[in-house]
Amino acid sequence: MKKNNIPYKVYLDEDEIPKAWYNIRADMKTDHRPMLNPQTLEPITAEELSPIFCDKLIAQELNDKDRFIEIPEPIRDFYKMYRPSPLVRAYCLEKMLNTPAKIYYKYEGGNTSGSHKLNSAIAQGYYAKEQGLKGLSTETGAGQWGTAMSMACAYFGLELKVYMVKVSASQKPYRKTVMETYGANVVPSPSDTTNVGRMLLEMNPDSNGSLGTAISEAVEVAATTEGYRYVLGSVLNQVLLHQSVIGLEAKTAFEKIGDYPDIVIGCAGGGSNLGGLIGPFIKDKFAGKDAPYFIAVEPASCPSLTRGKFAYDFCDTGKVAPLAKMYTIGATYVPSGSHAGGLRYHGMAPILSQLYHDGFIDEARAVKQTDVFDAATMFAKAEGNLPAPESAHAIRVAIDEAIKCRESGEEKTILFGLSGTGYFDLGAYALYNENAMTDSVPSDEDLNESFSAIPKV
Ligand SMILES: *Cc1c(COP(=O)(O)O)cnc(C)c1O
Repeated sequence: MKKNNIPYKVYLDEDEIPKAWYNIRADMKTDHRPMLNPQTLEPITAEELSPIFCDKLIAQELNDKDRFIEIPEPIRDFYKMYRPSPLVRAYCLEKMLNTPAKIYYKYEGGNTSGSHKLNSAIAQGYYAKEQGLKGLSTETGAGQWGTAMSMACAYFGLELKVYMVKVSASQKPYRKTVMETYGANVVPSPSDTTNVGRMLLEMNPDSNGSLGTAISEAVEVAATTEGYRYVLGSVLNQVLLHQSVIGLEAKTAFEKIGDYPDIVIGCAGGGSNLGGLIGPFIKDKFAGKDAPYFIAVEPASCPSLTRGKFAYDFCDTGKVAPLAKMYTIGATYVPSGSHAGGLRYHGMAPILSQLYHDGFIDEARAVKQTDVFDAATMFAKAEGNLPAPESAHAIRVAIDEAIKCRESGEEKTILFGLSGTGYFDLGAYALYNENAMTDSVPSDEDLNESFSAIPKV
C-alpha cells in the first residue's frame, strides 16, 4: 500500500529534538493586546503576576523579542524519554477514503499523560523547582493537564493540588487515580476548599463545574499558600511557546521526506496544541513564502472562534485571573457536558485569537460531537489508533478535506495534530456505540446572555 518512499512513520533522531522553543510573538505582525489586571484593568506587570506565576514563566509570558528560547538541559532530558513524537503517514485512512490526498498526523498521545500537555507541564515544573517553590496548584478539565502536571511534579519533587471540573471527575474516575498515583491532591470543583468555590456552590449547589471555575479556585490557592504558584495548561503565551516542539519536529520531519503540507488542521480548546503545531509553519507565511492553509477546529457546543466576540474578557469565572483580549463566548458561559472536556473553555489563546483576527489562521470550523465520533471511529478502525475526542475534531476536518480531494482529484498534503489518546474516554465511546450521544449547540439567546457579561474595556 505504501506509495513512493515515504515510510509509515517518520521518526527523528534524539538529537533532532528541538534545542530551543519558537516564540511566535517575535514574528507576529500585530502583537496581541496585553493581559490586564482584573482589579485595575491596566496592563498587568511582572510584579503583579509574581504572587501567582513562577518568575521565569512570567518572563516567558511577557517576552515578545526573542525568536528562539533555549530549552534547559533537564527539560530536554525529560523530553528524550517520550520524544521525538512520530509523524505518521495515514496510508490506511487514505485507502479507506479512496483519496489522492496524502494525510499525515503528528501523534502526541504516546506518553502516560496521554496528550501533548506534558510538553509544557515538564517545563513549568522545572521552572518552579528552579525557583525553590514547595508546590503548585492547577485546574484540569478532562484530566490530561492534571495528569501531565502530576508527572512533572513527581519528577521534580513538588507538591500538586489539582482542581478537577466536577463533571469530568465523575466521567473519568481513573484519571483521578493516575494523578493520585503520581502524588497529586485532586479536588472536584467547585469545592468548599476556597472562597470562590464556596460562593459558586451557594449560587448553584448542583453545578457541573467548568474550567473557568476550577481556574479561580486554583489561583486562589496559589495566591494564599506559602511557597505555591499556579500553573495553567493552555491559553497562555508560555504554553504555546513550549508546545512549539510539536511544530518544530513536524517541520523537520517534512524536510526529511521532502514534502510540505498544503493544509494544517488542529483542534482548538485553549489553543495550545494548535498553536504549537502551526507556529513554525506560520513563520513561513510571515516571511512571505508559500505556506499551508490553517484550519482551527472547535466543538459546536463551545464555539469561541466561530461565534464568539474578539474582546477583553475574564479568563476565569471568579474574576481573579488577569483579563485577556481573545475570542470568547463569555466567562459566565458553562458549556454542556460534552465529551471533549479539553475543548470546553470559553476563550481562546490571545496569540491564536490575534492570528485568526488578522487572517493568518485561514479558517475556523465548528463540528458536532456525533460527527466527531463518526470520524474518530473511522480513524480508529483504519489506523489502529484510538483518538482522544478532542483530537477527533481535527480528524473530522482532515477526513472532510480528504474527501474533497477525492471529488476534485487534487493530491493535497494534509497534516493534522493528533493531540492525544482516547483510552480515558471509553465512557464517551460507549455512549456513541449505544447511539445515546447527543449534540448540543447553544442558541443565539444562550450566547447573548453570556456576551452581556463580557466587561466593557
Ligand atoms: C487539552 C487537550 C486539548 C485542548 O487543549 P489545547 O490547548 O487547545 O490544545 C486537545 N487535545 C487533547 C488531547 C487535550 O488533552
